[in-house]
Amino acid sequence: MAEDAAAHPPYGTYATMSEEIWAERGWMMFSSSGTTGAPRVFRYSHIDRELWAWANARALQSMDFRQADTVFMITGYGPHVWAWGVQYALAKMGLPTLPGGGMDVRARANIVIRYQPTILLCTPSYVLHLGRTMQALGVEPRTTAVRTLFVAGEPGMSVAATRERIQELWGARLVEFYGCTEASPHVGGFSCPHSQPTGGPVSTHLLEDVQVWETVDPQSRKPLRDAERGLTVCTNLNSESSPQLRFLVGDYATFDRSRCGCGRTHVRAIGSFAGRADDLINLRGIKMFPGQIEHAVRSIAGIGDEFEIVLMTNADGLDVMTVRVEHQAGAEIATTVVEEIRTRCEVRAAVEVLNPGTLPRTEFKAARVKDRRERQ
Ligand SMILES: [Zn+2]
Repeated sequence: MAEDAAAHPPYGTYATMSEEIWAERGWMMFSSSGTTGAPRVFRYSHIDRELWAWANARALQSMDFRQADTVFMITGYGPHVWAWGVQYALAKMGLPTLPGGGMDVRARANIVIRYQPTILLCTPSYVLHLGRTMQALGVEPRTTAVRTLFVAGEPGMSVAATRERIQELWGARLVEFYGCTEASPHVGGFSCPHSQPTGGPVSTHLLEDVQVWETVDPQSRKPLRDAERGLTVCTNLNSESSPQLRFLVGDYATFDRSRCGCGRTHVRAIGSFAGRADDLINLRGIKMFPGQIEHAVRSIAGIGDEFEIVLMTNADGLDVMTVRVEHQAGAEIATTVVEEIRTRCEVRAAVEVLNPGTLPRTEFKAARVKDRRERQ
């Protein structure tokens, strides 16, 4: 797709949208959030809008969105499929929304306090930022009407320490959508009421009746059996403008087809989704997800919500990792953080402890990893 987009600007030829269809029933243009290569854009039709709205509405219903819920859409309404698809699904379900674009975090905090939405839609990083801002305004997020935190865009469900931190802060349940711009513009996966069983691993269902989901070996790309960990692949024909055959979405997942506690038999990703294979950090041959570092640092009481992972090549030509966190105890806590990272990620990282409030606050999607290594 990236090569095709570069060769045939600006749209490429990988989608089925034509100028004629766009003129006749074009709906919206979206862009993949990938940070590398030429932007890959997708123009969708009103037929797609209707297909998305139905598929998303079913997933939202399964996540326990109900009459009397009001959803605060904390999104900039940019060219990203998630929020727009949800917006149209909520309209189909008849659930009211509060649009939250074009305002800063304090304005959004005041909306939560004043108008009492019951569901928040935002990234996991942002919901922490919003909650802390409310505390600074003297309002505990737990005392608001919010009962559901609907996240996507970053691993949320799969990072236990983050999930617990968010749920504790808000006294509300975390649910997530899983998908991608290319193969499944509507949702691919969703949290069911049984997604966080007591004592068991979290899981996310996939919409198997409208999409075919597989996992493949990361190296050979051969299909794997259930219970084997591999990369996600989606076949999606529920689309006029971007049908895809066996598109490599590329998140690590382990599938299970046994009946879920909620009664559904559609396949589940056990442990949910840890992140795209592209995000995997390879430090001197040791591989880890940013989410694993996140889990380690957020397991420590008093650690701030923001953190950074900086990868550099040192004077000896060795690639090293520094994790920058915030804590009131300063350097005293550094050893604890080093140990926690070593235990959970089997890697030795330098740790820099900054004063609370030093690192930039996350406004949308967090950019946690700064890779400044010298490439060979
Ligand atoms: Zn279930």
